[in-house]
Amino acid sequence: MKKQIIRKKLEEKTRSDLASSCKIWEGTLCRGYGTVSISGKNFRAARLAFEIEKGPIPPGCVIHHTCFNTKCVNSKHLKPMPQSEHMKIHAERGVWNGQNNSQAKLTRTQVIEIKKRGKLLGEKPKIIAEDFDVTLSNVHSILAGKSWSHINIIERKAA
Ligand SMILES: [Zn+2]
Ligand SMILES: [Zn+2]
Repeated sequence: MKKQIIRKKLEEKTRSDLASSCKIWEGTLCRGYGTVSISGKNFRAARLAFEIEKGPIPPGCVIHHTCFNTKCVNSKHLKPMPQSEHMKIHAERGVWNGQNNSQAKLTRTQVIEIKKRGKLLGEKPKIIAEDFDVTLSNVHSILAGKSWSHINIIERKAA
């Protein structure tokens, strides 16, 4: 199957998220991951997206979403790595082990919202902390880029 056809199949069902630059898959999901059906066979959307843009995934590797959005199919946010390394990243971040560290208390969407409010709208960190039920130092470290630094907001230029 030609690259352009696969690319088109992916693009038809993705929505670009300006804030995170993620390309969110809005088609069929299988266990939380986008699934594309080609000639009766199912493929992971993220794997396909990576392969058509960057080349083959090394054997034994899984695709990690550096943006931590498993529905994202932006090849720039996808990184193949061995399963053991992948487990380690997620365990450290608390996503797969009960969300018990301080970073995991917030969801990605909330972090984007905090960054927007603090950086773009210039709201006081104290007010943001109260709204999201986190400590003031949490908000400071998010705004200073010390935690959740992998999540970037794109500041839209005025037209
Ligand atoms: Zn992404
Ligand atoms: Zn991952």
